[in-house]
Amino acid sequence: MHETCSNNLDSIIVLLANPNTYRGQSYAQAAERLGLHVLWAIDIPDKLASEWNMSLSVDFSDHDESVRTIVDLADEKQVVAVLAIDDSATLIAAEVCSLLGLPHNSRAAAMAARDKLVMRQHLQAGRVLCPQFMSFHHNENPEDISIHIGYPCILKPLLLNGSRGVIRANNPTEFKTAWHRVRSIINNAVGTRILVEDYIPGQEVAVEALGSDTGIKILAIFDKPDPLEGPFFEETIYVTPSLLPQEDQLEIESTLISSAKALGLRLGPIHAEFRLNEHGVWPIEIAGRTIGGLCSNILSFGSGRSLEELVLLQTSGSNIDKFTIDDRSKGVMMIPIPKSGILRKINGIKQAESIDGIDKIEITAKLNYPIYPLPEGDGYLGFIFAYCQSPYEVVEALRTSHALLQFHIESEILLEQIK
Ligand code: ADP
Repeated sequence: MHETCSNNLDSIIVLLANPNTYRGQSYAQAAERLGLHVLWAIDIPDKLASEWNMSLSVDFSDHDESVRTIVDLADEKQVVAVLAIDDSATLIAAEVCSLLGLPHNSRAAAMAARDKLVMRQHLQAGRVLCPQFMSFHHNENPEDISIHIGYPCILKPLLLNGSRGVIRANNPTEFKTAWHRVRSIINNAVGTRILVEDYIPGQEVAVEALGSDTGIKILAIFDKPDPLEGPFFEETIYVTPSLLPQEDQLEIESTLISSAKALGLRLGPIHAEFRLNEHGVWPIEIAGRTIGGLCSNILSFGSGRSLEELVLLQTSGSNIDKFTIDDRSKGVMMIPIPKSGILRKINGIKQAESIDGIDKIEITAKLNYPIYPLPEGDGYLGFIFAYCQSPYEVVEALRTSHALLQFHIESEILLEQIK
């Protein structure tokens, strides 16, 4: 039995989400378990919105109108919190909260955690380790840029996530090829600028944390045992607890706190990536949201609370300091998309699920739809979850299980109009 949150029946939490969010179900379940009333503000046209229970349709690309629509809600309902569960609406949530006088990160902090250029500027000003970086308009000539920058470098869009459009270049020729690729990705998605920064070598970790009035609390540090050296940066295995020495973990914690301070992030979920090398701990990215995909499913706190329950408890004013992560070794593999095409079939799921330590496999890609790997793609085929005696066994189980899956991907036949 789970205790429920004491709340007024008329008071609601507004959750802002993309229609294709991976996080919706976890938040919906968390709200239900806590007895909280949620109103979903979804970035979809009105017609489709009516199919979502109690949802409100909002066009996130129209910032002012989105803010107005949600603020207007407060005339009819008692809005006690507004939270963006994906990156794309964090600025809207921050502004609505500021207008309604609700606790939230400032708009400037939300912007710094959203835009990779602003994030680098804040980290540099906050004296946190930061690679050399520059940003360029996508119409600039890559030939000119390629002779003025250092190598290896990383090119990335400012507003995308999930490693989409992030490419390593080791020399001017690779830079020009990567430039054209990133440019067409942002033309099809969002943004006009490309960030170019030094490549930081080293071991990468991801950190899940929650900020509250009492400070920033680290919930989990995940090791990433597969090398992430480019040219593209496909996430695969996350495993926790981290096997890094205690002193490295303490340095990660202090870098997270100084990075969050530099950005102005104080409240709510924080998901961060760091690289460790002989110079110290380098922030790669600090975002004001929870971990991506379905990865949060492996985390559990106190007597079985989910990460999303902790976030909602904290958002609705409860103290979450007493909740600590359960002490099992656990991990998740984000199943990468091996090649582009139409996903026809996945075989071997039963065998892959029967491996010792594997809890379950969730396939999230739709059959008979086109799929694209990084750097253009923006999803995974699914997720493999594991719990074992040690992090080593978790990694072994995930790799063995993944090797048993067979993906049937047919090449896409593009039809051209006969002229
Ligand atoms: P996103 O928000 O799309 O995930 P990130 O900036 O976090 O973009 O980059 C995605 C991945 O690319 C990182 O997890 C890291 O592995 C790699 N990466 C990004 N920037 C750098 C860098 N400057 N040096 C080395 N690797 C990087």
